[in-house]
Amino acid sequence: MGGLFWRSALRGLRCGPRAPGPILLVRHSSGGPSWTRERTLVAVKPDGVQRRLVGDVIQRFERRGFTLVGMKMLQAPESVLAEHYQDLQRKPFYPALIRYMSSGPVVAMVWEGYNVVRASRAMIGHTDSAEAAPGTVRGDFSVHISRNVIHASDSVEGAQREIQLWFQSSELVSWADGGQHSSIHPA
Ligand code: UDP
Ligand code: MG
Repeated sequence: MGGLFWRSALRGLRCGPRAPGPILLVRHSSGGPSWTRERTLVAVKPDGVQRRLVGDVIQRFERRGFTLVGMKMLQAPESVLAEHYQDLQRKPFYPALIRYMSSGPVVAMVWEGYNVVRASRAMIGHTDSAEAAPGTVRGDFSVHISRNVIHASDSVEGAQREIQLWFQSSELVSWADGGQHSSIHPA
């Protein structure tokens, strides 16, 4: 009985989910999994801020296991918006987009974690509210493509560019030594 159990348990291990390839998951010298610390820019847009959705957005990203490394509320300067949306300057909706993004404060955040760029795009959902799946931020809250509540960078390179545009490096924190200098317990 015991022998059977162990044999089937071992078989289960051998046939279990295969570890992702080395590109996705690189083994640490200590044996634990590691990955490059990817960061992305997420911004709750003026409609999301006015609709009191900031807390919901933060909670989704925290629960997903991502780490908040920067956050600020600001009235976005037009120069920042122009650079942020430089690829859309020739689109017919561009003037309305800049007006919308200037219509109130935004809450800009930098989130860090494994595959955070791709994961956060999935979490925010399709640009067009009509296409956005329920369970995504836009699928749950967005009323129209022009009022879609949230922004998230769409590539690792784009994220680096956007983080530098919205944040000074001194405004971002490192959690690398968080285990040693815990704020949760008194010293
Ligand atoms: N947008 C719009 N009308 C459109 C397409 C886009 O108002 O037909 C706005 C919308 O706020 C969107 C932003 O422009 O989030 C940037 O467009 P993009 O295609 O980069 O979509 P996203 O990356 O935000 O999903
Ligand atoms: Mg985009």
